[in-house]
Amino acid sequence: MDTNDNEHIQFIRLAIDEAKKCIPTPTAFCVGCVLTVPGPDATPVVLATGYSRELPGNTHAEANALAKARALTKEQLQTLIPSLAPTSSIEDVLSSANIYTTMEPCSVRTSGLAPCADAVIAARNRRCFIGVGEPDDFVKCEGAQKLQAAGVEVIWIKGLEQECLEVARRGH
Ligand SMILES: [Zn+2]
Repeated sequence: MDTNDNEHIQFIRLAIDEAKKCIPTPTAFCVGCVLTVPGPDATPVVLATGYSRELPGNTHAEANALAKARALTKEQLQTLIPSLAPTSSIEDVLSSANIYTTMEPCSVRTSGLAPCADAVIAARNRRCFIGVGEPDDFVKCEGAQKLQAAGVEVIWIKGLEQECLEVARRGH
């Protein structure tokens, strides 16, 4: 990690709070996600949050956070990031975003929806901070590997693995 360790811990903790909002289910994990972008004075601001099954369907935290970010109005974006150039699109904003997720973004989906690793790559997020690797409960996850191969910087947060896993497995 870099010199802003505390900042990253703060956002992964916020992601854990999101994960706690999930309705537990025996067949999936409870994951939380936070997207941040550089705001005034380069201080990061939260662009959007998401958690598993927050949006209708068997939706995932990362995809939900990205969908909620894309649903922001131009005015909402301008309020969050006052320095935003009027010509900047949400896709420009997402390409400077950090994504914090309590669990490694999935690389395989059996339900037909796109895996989160692909969604993060498509959004061109700058860095992906991960609380814990996905255990092999359901599928073998190669999300982190996939992200790195696509040029997304992957940073493993240390010390919150147990907490992230416990929240993820609520309902199992
Ligand atoms: Zn996913």
